[in-house]
Amino acid sequence: MKKHDLIVIGAGPGGYAAAIRAAQLGLDAACVERERVLGGTCLRVGCIPSKALLESSELYERTLAGLSRHGVAVAGVELDLERMLGRKDRVVSQLGAGVAGLLRKNRVTRYTGTARFKAPGQFELDDGTTTLSAASIIIATGSRPLSLPGITLDGNRVGSSTEALRYPEVPGRLAVIGAGYIGLELGSVWRRLGAEVVVFEYLDRILPGMDAEIAAAALKVFAKQGLQFRLGSKVTAARQDGRGCTVETEGGEPYACDRVLVSVGRRANTDGLNLEAAGVELDSRGRVDVNGGFATSAKGVYAIGDVIRGPMLAHKAEEEGIACVERIVTGYGHVNYDAIPGVVYTHPEIASVGKTEEELRSSGTAYRKGLFPFAANGRARAIADTAGFAKILADERTDRVLGVHIIGPRAGDLIAEASVAIEFGATSEDVARACHAHPTLAEVLKEASLAVDGRAIHY
Ligand code: FAD
Repeated sequence: MKKHDLIVIGAGPGGYAAAIRAAQLGLDAACVERERVLGGTCLRVGCIPSKALLESSELYERTLAGLSRHGVAVAGVELDLERMLGRKDRVVSQLGAGVAGLLRKNRVTRYTGTARFKAPGQFELDDGTTTLSAASIIIATGSRPLSLPGITLDGNRVGSSTEALRYPEVPGRLAVIGAGYIGLELGSVWRRLGAEVVVFEYLDRILPGMDAEIAAAALKVFAKQGLQFRLGSKVTAARQDGRGCTVETEGGEPYACDRVLVSVGRRANTDGLNLEAAGVELDSRGRVDVNGGFATSAKGVYAIGDVIRGPMLAHKAEEEGIACVERIVTGYGHVNYDAIPGVVYTHPEIASVGKTEEELRSSGTAYRKGLFPFAANGRARAIADTAGFAKILADERTDRVLGVHIIGPRAGDLIAEASVAIEFGATSEDVARACHAHPTLAEVLKEASLAVDGRAIHY
């Protein structure tokens, strides 16, 4: 049996960051991963390949239609899908090799195989020979796509985001089931490349959980771009029919299409770990149950990332992995769940941190609100990208920033300032008084902060 001080199961953004932090803190750390390429869902079939395709498809669409307003005339623009997908694959393999290099550099021992608990503090790999034990074991096994009753993911025409990252041809018609960020991002990719995309959503809004005013603005922009929405529609079946597919909805006409992307959420990866043998309990939704310090019901076993409660986001997993290890080694480690940003990498981007207006209203928190549109920002005009606005919500009594929501160009980068503001307990006055370079998109946040107090200069 091989022994280490700490072993992480899963080399996603939560797991590999935890292993590196443990090694930095002087532990003999190891990381077990069943896939050849490290980096988890995020790197292999999530954040990174989707952003690579979003960038490529946006460049294609802009070159086709958006450059003439800049006085740039282009002709003969063609899509080379194979090359586009190939670039995405290279980005993934380069970054995967980078993670392997980071583990080596930090002297983290790497094991390749699927882990299965044998007893508390002990598990085996599916190679039939390796048994591992450690004083601290962190479960960081992530999540996998969910489906709906009546829909079997066939790994081909009726698939998840994993298949939608590698369609070999642009589908003529693509049905997206679920209007969360994954469906909207990948729906946008294939629409830009030429597909007719229809998004089916059970709720009467898109982007559930995000600020409703921002989601309503996003719906208008996406509809204008050509995404079609069937809101309030309950999908009852989706299946392959010959060379195409059919999507059925309650009370609606069947929709015939070439491919179906099911993006209705993800579920924790706990199957096959034999958690009973370790004494690890699950919560009511099948996730590993942890306390505030990421400890499970089994002594010395912890869990972080998508496999536990909270938003399924790479940076949340990473923060938790690091905090978990720091708690184990130093007794202190902390994640501020009020300051975890969420970004939708469509165009325009949508980004959010802290409380939504709906959350503030339902908790009875009195707040003031400042809005500023990108159309009134000089840089947005200069780059011809003016859709959207930023909104700052501040406590009515203390002026502390409680939530920031942005739809607009580079919202995903702009939100970092808002996260720092919330992390440091800044007021909207603090943000407004900080000097922002001109002309930058970031001035939108300064102006929105001024608007909290009714004194925006440019609007
Ligand atoms: P994972 O990344 O899922 O890693 C878990 C690892 O554990 C996997 O590599 C798995 O192979 C391994 N594993 C599982 N079981 C075992 C076992 N028994 N033995 C050994 N190894 C095992 N998040 C963002 O923050 N930003 C984004 O832009 C974003 N875009 C996304 C786009 C898509 C299409 C998808 C699907 C997800 C996206 N996400 C995004 C979510 C993000 O990928 C996840 O939140 C993140 O990967 C979770 O990290 P994790 O470390 O908890 O788990």
